[in-house]
Amino acid sequence: MEVKWNDTVIKILRGDITEQDTEALVNAANSRLAGGGGVDGAIHAAGGPAIMRELDSIRARQGGCPAGQAVITTGGRLKAKHVIHTVGPVYHGRDAEAELLAACYGNSIKLAAGHNIHSLSFPSISTGVYRYPIRLAAPVALRTVFSQLQIYPLQEIRFVLFSDADYEVYRKVVTELKLPE
Ligand code: ADP
Repeated sequence: MEVKWNDTVIKILRGDITEQDTEALVNAANSRLAGGGGVDGAIHAAGGPAIMRELDSIRARQGGCPAGQAVITTGGRLKAKHVIHTVGPVYHGRDAEAELLAACYGNSIKLAAGHNIHSLSFPSISTGVYRYPIRLAAPVALRTVFSQLQIYPLQEIRFVLFSDADYEVYRKVVTELKLPE
């Protein structure tokens, strides 16, 4: 499905984020920037070792990345030129976790805009191994992106959902939020 928001096209689709041809992809990384399973493993496998080489030097400089923050590297062999690595919160049901999750989306868009990136694909951050229920994470993701686009109007944002069930949750939440279609 597609939604137009001011000057931005927002696409919600089921698919594999590593195959997206937006200028940048967002990775759901861990705070050591060390690589892992899930979407992180898929991005490193598809992009090759150049991504980890840049993360190694970021780690040497700043020792990792706290939850809610984001760093940028090359996309290596991916179609996307850049990967923005953001660290989602592990879900325990505390209020602060929604703010940290929102910060992931907000800081990723800010970092993209600062690097003159016009199109960006997001996975569903924290809703895998970090156990954030997607029904609660999706409105945080969508609200934050829509509001951040008023400050940093990118041309295109994609939400790339890995399963039909996750895709349906996003579709439903977009309708509930009464965002224009
Ligand atoms: P986290 O540790 O932040 O929870 P995960 O990688 O475990 O990150 O999961 C985040 C989401 O990414 C999950 O919904 C998972 O299904 C999804 N995912 C896994 N691989 C891919 C992929 N190749 N493209 C898009 N989404 C993916």
